[in-house]
Amino acid sequence: MPPIDAGAGRFAPSPSGELHVGNLRTAILAWLFARSTGRDFLLRIEDLDRARAGAEAKVLEDLAAVGLTWDGNVLSQTDRFPLYRTAITTLADAGLVYECFCTRREIAEAPSAPHSPAGAYPGTCRNLGDSERERRRQERPAALRLRAGVTEYTVTDRLHGEYTGVVDDLVLLRNDGVPAYNLAVVVDDADQGIDQVVRGDDLLSSTPRQAYLASLLGLAPVEYAHVPLVLNAHHRRIAKRDGAISLRTLALAGIGPDRVRDMVLRSVDLPSGPLEQALEAFSPGQLPTEPWIFEPPVLDLP
Ligand SMILES: [Zn+2]
Repeated sequence: MPPIDAGAGRFAPSPSGELHVGNLRTAILAWLFARSTGRDFLLRIEDLDRARAGAEAKVLEDLAAVGLTWDGNVLSQTDRFPLYRTAITTLADAGLVYECFCTRREIAEAPSAPHSPAGAYPGTCRNLGDSERERRRQERPAALRLRAGVTEYTVTDRLHGEYTGVVDDLVLLRNDGVPAYNLAVVVDDADQGIDQVVRGDDLLSSTPRQAYLASLLGLAPVEYAHVPLVLNAHHRRIAKRDGAISLRTLALAGIGPDRVRDMVLRSVDLPSGPLEQALEAFSPGQLPTEPWIFEPPVLDLP
């Protein structure tokens, strides 16, 4: 048996609409990873961008419908701004924060710094003088950026092995006063005792930034597993236009939550049936690393 105090895994959906089969698959995998290693399984609602009314309740309902259970209270990021501000202050006290006044357009049009990869912040505001900064403060509110000391960082992932990716001067606080996603995730995982992060592999490229940020905040590294996404028959990320992909629309096509759960389990070579049963057969090392090609039933609705 794994030790009792083995930390926690998590699923952290954004409440922007209904969960689709890909989200549900990631949630089930995160649950299997956590439970198979004796960890708690926590839920966190990543609602830094405005959530749709009632969306959180719907998310929890969908997760329960496929048989997921979780521990403790469900946290919402919008309730945790003081915690994020404390982390930014810690970084600022270490001289690792600066104000950035760039618009999206200015960043897109700026010549990129030598050796900096596409999409990385070009460092425009990194070394503004006091008077220039004062002038620009009158024009628009500043975002706060991390003064990164590296340009890349390496993480270890259960499925992808060693992964090295870009670290730039990432945003910590947006210029509308909302903490940035990368900061919030790192602070929350540490605060919640999460030491295992299982999520879609579309987030793998953000992971070096987050792991580097965690190291600057003196936080312990976490175990990562970035699981494959669900793609449509054209090998693109599934979307609503592909047909029935949410529990609600799948139900309209005659596929209830138990069958959705079974489809997800079969896509990772696990037996159909209750999740507890799948847990006994689950072995992270045997997880397929290819995406799941899912052809949603087409709904012919008025
Ligand atoms: Zn800037």
